[in-house]
Amino acid sequence: MCSLVALRMGTYAKVEKILSRRPGREALLLGLALLGMGFVPLTCLATDWLAPFDFPVPPWVRVSGAVTYGIGFLLLLWVHLTLGHNWSPFLEISKGHVLVTGGPYRWVRHPLYLAFYVMAVGQWLLTANWVVGFSGVLLWSIFYLARVGHEEEMMLDFFGEEYKKYMERTGRLLPKLK
Ligand code: SAH
Repeated sequence: MCSLVALRMGTYAKVEKILSRRPGREALLLGLALLGMGFVPLTCLATDWLAPFDFPVPPWVRVSGAVTYGIGFLLLLWVHLTLGHNWSPFLEISKGHVLVTGGPYRWVRHPLYLAFYVMAVGQWLLTANWVVGFSGVLLWSIFYLARVGHEEEMMLDFFGEEYKKYMERTGRLLPKLK
């Protein structure tokens, strides 16, 4: 997992950025998201500090949480393979940026954000802990809701009509009903 992140950050660092929106605000939001999706669940797994917030569940609930988390993680891998050099943890456009409309982007505009929602539910069931559950879903939602509109605005400004047409045939997190 850590080597995958390092690999992506290495590729990301090499790509020249030609446009960046609200870097300070986005870094803060990213920090919040990392707290809910990384620091809190890892603290729960590695220590017993959050044990008072555990809730009792039968083993199959934890197993279904692990499966759900795994599905989210596979979606995340698919997204990264599809986005390639166009990925950024911030609101940025890189040199040679292309509008990706294949893979999971064929149906939804934000499959990476969807993957983290699936993983947030997965870690909630897997740890059976209220703090992990609420911090994951809540902090991810704050990140998502504060970012998605600005990201689409940036994509519209840069890709114009191409993105407008893409928006007409796709949904944000779930496919558009015909
Ligand atoms: N919101 C997308 C991508 C998250 S990564 C998702 O949830 O899957 C954020 C960066 O991806 C943004 O800075 C933007 O430059 C880029 N991006 C978003 N949608 C894109 C698309 N369809 N094609 C290419 N780049 C995209």
